[in-house]
This record gives sequence, structure tokens and C-alpha cells, in this order.
Amino acid sequence: MEFNLYAIIILAALVGDFLLGALADGLNLRAASETVPAEFAAVYDAVAYARSQRYLWARTRFGLVRGGAELAILLAFWFGGGFGWVQRLTNSWAGGEIVQGLLFVALLALGRMVYSLPFSWYAVFVLESRFGFNRTTLGTFIKDLLKGLVLSVVIGGPLLAGILWLLGRAGSLAWLWCWLAVAGFSLLMQVIYPAWIMPWFNRFEPLEEGDLRRRILAMAAAVGFPVQRVQVMDGSRRSGHSNAMVTGFGRAKRIALYDTLLADHPADEIVAITAHEVGHWRLHHIWWLTVFHLVHLGILFRLLAVFLHHEGLFAAFGVVPSTAAGLVFFGLLYTPVELVLALGLNVQSRRCEYAADRFAATATGLGEAMIAALKRLSVHNLSNLTPHPLTVALEYSHPPVLARIRALRSVTPPAEETTP
Ligand SMILES: [Zn+2]
Repeated sequence: MEFNLYAIIILAALVGDFLLGALADGLNLRAASETVPAEFAAVYDAVAYARSQRYLWARTRFGLVRGGAELAILLAFWFGGGFGWVQRLTNSWAGGEIVQGLLFVALLALGRMVYSLPFSWYAVFVLESRFGFNRTTLGTFIKDLLKGLVLSVVIGGPLLAGILWLLGRAGSLAWLWCWLAVAGFSLLMQVIYPAWIMPWFNRFEPLEEGDLRRRILAMAAAVGFPVQRVQVMDGSRRSGHSNAMVTGFGRAKRIALYDTLLADHPADEIVAITAHEVGHWRLHHIWWLTVFHLVHLGILFRLLAVFLHHEGLFAAFGVVPSTAAGLVFFGLLYTPVELVLALGLNVQSRRCEYAADRFAATATGLGEAMIAALKRLSVHNLSNLTPHPLTVALEYSHPPVLARIRALRSVTPPAEETTP
């Protein structure tokens, strides 16, 4: 391998990415407030709050160790000539560029899975367990792993084969064909994922007839989002964290509530949370996100097509040029662009969250219930109430909870004035 400009750029990008994350982590820990913020004084006792601080420290420490170890393994593999070794090995197993390319990517992905396994195991069975969140059994953990593997082979395999085939055959417009193919595929996945893949991992049952179901359906109809199905998902099979979501397209749309959410929140709050999720659809956030994703894919393939012909990129990793290797290394080269895009996407996503909160408060008049729900969720999930702005910029798709509450207050008249 050759330590050329590509190697320098990629090395700087990988190390820089890690250091930026570590800096944000350090600032985030320093920003943590030792006392309960006033807004939460009534719902967070000192003992539970101290626990949330320990959770923050434990997760941060674990994230740094994991990130550092994974970076060290990648760099050792790279500078130890690992990529060239894998390429020679997989090329000796079979002929044909596409099959060789599939084997190359599959072996690298398998290697990555193996070294990240101890970290995933620790995160679930030590870290989350210590704070009482983990409900996953070893059996479920292994089954999830195998199902993920099956999905990668059955769905990822043909997709990758198609991309390799197009890039090899379609000439100067290959990037355009790849874009169209992957765009079509990801739109198809939006239908397939909730209908077939999610039920493979979780059980969905209709929410029982009764007041809550009636109220959710009435709310959805009142805001012009008629759904027929409200379901309960057995989120508690894996974790104590809770959530709600709206999935599917057209007539297949449905609302799914985690069983953990049902167990912890009064009806008002569940309706408010559901209204927030419905808000994302009514305000077209899902479509904007899809359009952004598709445009991003187009840019990605256009750039990829350029760099596939730069021999220096392959020399930096000690491999002979091949489309599959180009995909992998372009992915690494793309790290800084990815970072900038993530910053932009997070800003947009946080804006959408404010808008969905506002929607829940104004369209349903459940602003107070939404605030109560956010507080309960934060306490339940031991969320960090005072994250540092750099951490928010890098990682938060949702605004910090205190900012959300402040924004909700500004559109919700205080309770004293509405109840005479
Ligand atoms: Zn949301």
C-alpha cells in the first residue's frame, strides 16, 4: 500500500471524526447539571436524577471505548495490509467481478460484525441491564443477529450485485442507473419494511377496544389523518425504553404504540404522543425526508462514479482496482461529507420535531399533556436534560427536552387560564 494523498485525507477524516466526537463528549459531561433543572423539580427526585447522571457517564465512557477500539482495529487492519489480503483471498475463491466483489464486501462486513459483537453484547447485557432497561434474553439477541444476517444476504446481496453489475456495464451514465435502481429500491423498502420485516422482529396486536382506542381514532380523524389500525408492539421484549410510531403508506397506514408506553402513561399523554407522530405525516415531514434521502443518493453515486477511476484510492489500501473495493473505500473517503450532511439533517429533523410538537398542542389542545409526556419519558429513559450544544449539533435528531417544553409552553396557554 501507498501512503498517498487519499490515505492522508481518509486517515485525517477518520481520526478527526473520532476526536470531534470525543471533544463533544467531554463538553457534554462538563455541561451536565449536578442539580435537577427547575422544570423537572417536581418529577425527578435527587436519587433518580443522580442515576441519570451515572447513566450519562456510563454511556459516554462506553461510546468512547467502543469508538476508539473500532478505529484502532480499522487502522491496524488497513496499515497491516488487511484489505489486500481479503481481496487476494476472495479472488482466489471464485471468478467473475461481481461474485468476487460480493465475496469481498461480505467478508469485510462479516469481520466488522465479529469485532463489534462484544461491544453490542456489552451494551445490552451489561450497560442497559445495570440501569434496568434491558429485557432482551440471550436467545432473542442471537435470533436478532441471525435474522439481521439473513436480511443482509437476501436483500443486501442482490442490491449490491445489481449496483456492481450496473457500474461495470452502464458506462458514463452508470451513476444515474444506480441512482434510479437504489431510489426505487428504497421506496419499495418503505412499503416492505413495516409490512414484512418489522413483524419478523416484533409482535403487533390490535389495541383493545375501549376509551383509549376511541380517543386515538377520533384525534386522527379530527386532524384529517384517518387510520383504521391502532396496534400495540411488544417493545418490552427487548428494552424498557418506550416509543410510538406511524408506519405504512396509503390505506396500509397504522399507528403502533410500544407496550411500554401504554404501561407508563395516562391516556391523555398517549393521545398527545400519537398526535405528535401523526403530525410528522400531516406536515409532510416523511416526504421531505424521503426527497432529501433520494437527492443525497444521487450526489453519492455521482461522486462515486468519479472516484472509481482514481487509481490512487486503491493504491492507498493496497488492492488492485475493483468496483466493490471502490465502493468500500469511497465510503471511507465520504466520512467528512457524511458529517456535514448529518449536521444539516439533524437541524432539519429538530425543526420537524418542534413542528410536530406544535401540531400536537394546537390541533388537539393537548399541549399540557404533551409536556407531561415529555417529562415522564425523560425521567423514564434517564435522558440527559442539559446536553452541550456541540453534542446536540452532532447527534440530536430531537431537540433537548427543556427546549421542547419551552417551545410547547409558548403555544399552550397556561392551565390556570383555561380551567376557570
Ligand atoms: Zn417526532
